[in-house]
Amino acid sequence: MQSQFAPRTRKVRILATLGPASNTPDMVRLLAESGADAFRINMSHGSHADHKALIETIRGLEKELGRPTTILADLQGPKLRVGRFNDGKVALKAGQTFRLDREEALGDATRVRLPHREIFDAVEAGTRLLVDDGKIVLRVTKASPEEIETLVEVPGVISNNKGLNVPDVVLPLAALTDKDREDLAFALEHHVDWIALSFVQRPEDVAEARRLIGGHASLLAKIEKPAAVERLEGILELADAVMVARGDLGVELPPEEVPPLQKMIVETARRMGRPVVVATQMLESMITSPSPTRAEVSDVATAVYDGADAIMLSAESASGEWPVEAVSIMNRIATSVEADPSYLARVHFTETTPDPTTNDAIAAAASNIVKTVGASAIVCFTTSGSTARRVARERPAVPSLVLTPSVNTSRRLGLLWGSHAVRTRDVDSFEEMIAKAKRMALRHGLAKAGDRIIITAGVPFGTPGSTNVVHVARVIGDELDRHKAAESAQFKKD
Ligand code: PGA
Ligand code: MN
Repeated sequence: MQSQFAPRTRKVRILATLGPASNTPDMVRLLAESGADAFRINMSHGSHADHKALIETIRGLEKELGRPTTILADLQGPKLRVGRFNDGKVALKAGQTFRLDREEALGDATRVRLPHREIFDAVEAGTRLLVDDGKIVLRVTKASPEEIETLVEVPGVISNNKGLNVPDVVLPLAALTDKDREDLAFALEHHVDWIALSFVQRPEDVAEARRLIGGHASLLAKIEKPAAVERLEGILELADAVMVARGDLGVELPPEEVPPLQKMIVETARRMGRPVVVATQMLESMITSPSPTRAEVSDVATAVYDGADAIMLSAESASGEWPVEAVSIMNRIATSVEADPSYLARVHFTETTPDPTTNDAIAAAASNIVKTVGASAIVCFTTSGSTARRVARERPAVPSLVLTPSVNTSRRLGLLWGSHAVRTRDVDSFEEMIAKAKRMALRHGLAKAGDRIIITAGVPFGTPGSTNVVHVARVIGDELDRHKAAESAQFKKD
């Protein structure tokens, strides 16, 4: 059990999707106590009433646990689906022709409705249409604004409303459907911390969502289309974080292309100082089994060794039979990797050069001081969280304790590597800054008597974006008692 002030020194964050298997207050608490730092609500499933209850549950728990808890609302995005069939499904044979058209009539063995007019203009002879997570492959032979003729290349059974992927072309689809817009308005109204955008294709998609979000939440772009991979840097410029969404990415591309892309996306995001989440099928067999396969354990470990900010559970925690066990095992794998003496060197295989800004100079200096003289924590005073993000980008050897007066900042930092945010009042003086940093490091288990801590802050205090101080302090160990004594003296005086 994790008490309020138990040390939280794990660096990679765990993002657990909630769903029918885990949406009760007891389960959410168990998942948090087992190691979940952030929760994903999948807007593809469930009603707004369900989501509202869940958000209230998480916020209630946050109060109980006394630490910020992060909520990410994942918008479904323009997920394409075929229409419905007379008999609910048809079996397609290899080499037969099959038509997708705009007729309302229910489908049969020769045709089905495709309720997305944008696709008709975008495809041409040779384009592949992948149905049901790529299980069925249709090759376009002829396309007009009214119908698409295809040849069945990989046969199988298609049933009502099966998903469709068109990896070969950039579709002129809006990144946000009408449903997404409604879900987004709902999510913002209920103060979620992060919005995830699905099937992003272009930087413009991110820009549009940003305008709608208007700073009321941070934005994570899911990289699950080849088009998005091609424009990764442009997308990263505009997004606050990205996800390696391996589920759809491995349908849109041959699965063997996903591991190199995972490395590339993690590396690029880290260089640009954007949190990166590795997602999907990490512990897939735990949907039905209380223990993972060795290959899954290795997969989680690899993401941790790559220095990803967060690792995610989908069905494992949302609808599987073993949600708590899945979070626990993820926590154990991460803890074991991070205890490996070679861990940090492997993470630092990705080199990050500081930008020529004061913020980066301070972040790099703090990380270097830890390397040179040793310290148990970096304590960052920050309003917007930007210093914390630049410090995390350095992947320093020790955790960061992020002190911020902003509740929003403290929650949004839940996806950031090595960062433990605490909401607290701002300080007014240098002396108070040092005393508070020591006290909070002790209280949160990130320092003990005799440890050094590195403090970053901005002077004058309380001016956002002014980080310009890096200070080394030594913790005596009685700072908590002295603070209590000072407080009670103050009380007597009053
Ligand atoms: P999803 O996204 O779970 O919403 O499909 C993740 C993925 O595709 O990997
Ligand atoms: Mn997806």
